[in-house]
Amino acid sequence: MRIAMISEHASPLASLGGEDAGGQNTHVAELAAALVDQGHEVRVYTRRDAQEPPDLVRMDGVTVVYVPAGPPEALPKDSLLPYMKDFGRRLVEQWRGDWTPDVAHAHFWMSGLAALTAGRQTGVPVVQTYHALGTVKRRYQGAADTSPPKRIGYERALGRAVDRVIAQCQDEVRELVRMGVPRSRLAVIPSGVNSEKFTPEGPTVPRDPNRSRVLTVGRLVERKGFADVIRAMRALPDAECVIVGGPPGSSVDDDPLAQKLRAEAEAARVADQVRLVGAVPASEMPSWYRSADVVAAAPWYEPFGLVPLEAMACGIPVVGTAVGGITDTVVDGLTGDLVPPRDPRALGVALRRLLADPVRRFTYATAAVDRARQCYSWKRAAEQLIAVYEAVGGLRRPSGAVA
Ligand code: UDP
Repeated sequence: MRIAMISEHASPLASLGGEDAGGQNTHVAELAAALVDQGHEVRVYTRRDAQEPPDLVRMDGVTVVYVPAGPPEALPKDSLLPYMKDFGRRLVEQWRGDWTPDVAHAHFWMSGLAALTAGRQTGVPVVQTYHALGTVKRRYQGAADTSPPKRIGYERALGRAVDRVIAQCQDEVRELVRMGVPRSRLAVIPSGVNSEKFTPEGPTVPRDPNRSRVLTVGRLVERKGFADVIRAMRALPDAECVIVGGPPGSSVDDDPLAQKLRAEAEAARVADQVRLVGAVPASEMPSWYRSADVVAAAPWYEPFGLVPLEAMACGIPVVGTAVGGITDTVVDGLTGDLVPPRDPRALGVALRRLLADPVRRFTYATAAVDRARQCYSWKRAAEQLIAVYEAVGGLRRPSGAVA
């Protein structure tokens, strides 16, 4: 099968940890690789955000296509909407040329707009994964939400116009149904984790042997709940908190949220326990997870959440907030503990209990590795997606037709 993946802002080749580069990039890269492993041909279309790379780049059998749409420079994803028409036009040119896909899989809503434009003109069916929903973002971020005002309306319209919508967790299904996406158009296919990269055995970054380590990882944005983890450290005077994410290396010190978090640590009198290390290359993430006694994942909301799953695959127990995909991946009391979001006290209590109980940590870790391997492989995700692609391929419209 020829599969086009559209990921306008999230290139599978980008370095991660910055404000707009995280889970979607990993998801697209791993999924594309798993589909290629199963004998399919995959092209990933992403916006050209620099002058340098050639139009096509090969990555583990996947072809990454840089689509010129807007200036060839890094731009915040919330300012990309005006370029999606151009993006769609370029897709039409390519799909009418020498490479016509059997299916287009759009990641994020703006990719969906470009894919739908191109799909309608070329007869290519479109599958949509939102990764994040405007309704949810607006609910939690209110006035701080910088998404284009039309996002929610576009997402609703997309859900009715595409051939299939992929939800990543049960919580997202509820949101999508509330948005008016017909249940018959929905398939639930969770993200995955690469259990060959994220393993319990392997190198570990050096750590202080005299105090426990709580690790927390993510794009340095407020909703990831790093401030709550910092406040929770008051309950753990003998532990350190390591925060991975943000700009790389010492440039993390210039990041406004990093500065806010340091002030938070001062105010909570835990500054000497908190360390911000900045972004870590994806290839080094396993050795950071392995260095921890526990991973704290404390987002206010979370569309899926690869970080808890990566920690589980490395055999590290997770204390997570009971939101979004985390309520599916982390089984409370079996592979980790779940606490309410935005409740540093509950987070502190759960972390303290787990750090004081090595037997519980060991049993959680064993069950977590099993669960990550059995239920969340990219191979499984790719197989389930192929079944969806084949089903929508059967609905394929003749070229040029408008649905
Ligand atoms: N990540 C990374 N380096 C960093 C911070 C994060 O490689 O410094 C990766 C992390 O391993 C995971 C992804 O970024 O694969 C974050 O995904 P998640 O779904 O947890 O959050 P999102 O970015 O989608 O909000």
